[in-house]
Amino acid sequence: MPTCPRCGAQCEREDRYCGKCGQRLFATITKGKATQEAIRVAKVRYKLGLIYYKKGELLDAIEIWQRALEDDPENLAIKLLIERAQEEQRSERNLP
Ligand SMILES: [Zn+2]
Repeated sequence: MPTCPRCGAQCEREDRYCGKCGQRLFATITKGKATQEAIRVAKVRYKLGLIYYKKGELLDAIEIWQRALEDDPENLAIKLLIERAQEEQRSERNLP
């Protein structure tokens, strides 16, 4: 069963939005290969996300990377960056 990339809640395969946090889900868009154009757009978003990430704007970075992942769902580098940013976000919240 797919899980929400933002809050980790379990979602139905056909859900377009997470029922818990409202995150847009991209599991349903992963059919077929990304087009060259989509991959190019994903690369631009990937770099833009990195700029936000370096500035510590984790939310913006995650959001833009998730859009990049919609364009290029098989891009493992973007998936890993989202996971890392989400980890950091969680540990930031736990600070006193
Ligand atoms: Zn969610």
